[in-house]
Amino acid sequence: MEFLVTTADYVDFILNAGKKIAGEKDYISSLDAATGDGDHWVNINMRFEALAGMEATLRGMGFSALFKKIGLTMMSRIGGSSGILYGGAYQAAGKILPEGSGIPLTDLYQAMDAMLTDMMKRGHAQPGFKTMIDALYPAVAAFRESLDKHEEPLVLLKNLKQAALSGAEKTRGMEAVKGRASYQKDKGVGHLDPGAVTMAWQIECLSETLAAKAGNYEKPMRGGERKNG
Ligand code: ADP
Ligand code: MG
Repeated sequence: MEFLVTTADYVDFILNAGKKIAGEKDYISSLDAATGDGDHWVNINMRFEALAGMEATLRGMGFSALFKKIGLTMMSRIGGSSGILYGGAYQAAGKILPEGSGIPLTDLYQAMDAMLTDMMKRGHAQPGFKTMIDALYPAVAAFRESLDKHEEPLVLLKNLKQAALSGAEKTRGMEAVKGRASYQKDKGVGHLDPGAVTMAWQIECLSETLAAKAGNYEKPMRGGERKNG
């Protein structure tokens, strides 16, 4: 039997990511102050607060509706190009996800790949431009590789997280091509991109939220019965 991701898991991830981001105001604001206009934490935190306030509604939704709703919510919170990029990406993924409330990891991969494609197109950005794409792109590639190798969910989730975090770390040495850092004389070299850091944290939270469940899941599997999922 296959490991299924449920909308309840995804809403748990949204709440966990919101908590992580809420606690990092000074750090993220200082990163964006160095390379941008300093508002990235305010923008992203506002969006996660709005989503947390809608928890009951979100929990009752199937995947397609859930992603569309997250997208609309993120897009309607004023401030920052990141809102438009996340909003568009969630809506694009909502269009390809099924209506149901349980999906295999292959569907989650398709959703993340659709988000990446939409973000790159909407923002005219490629990997290496020193943006949040530099965390998402390697994560999606690692996801693909793990699926191709038929790796266990826990291994796959760990690879996903590590690829995102190391991708974000690499933005330190990059010259910005898109976004506000590209207007600076030094193109932000020497500084992490704030959007890449918050993207990597979200992927880390997603991975850890799902891994907590995959850990429980793999034990009953060995006994030949399934207790959750
Ligand atoms: P703004 O730059 O409009 O103030 P935010 O501060 O909310 O928006 O977000 C900044 C982050 O958005 C950047 O750190 C970068 O990761 C991401 N970003 C900006 N422009 C683009 C783009 N064209 N493509 C992808 N990501 C981008
Ligand atoms: Mg900003």
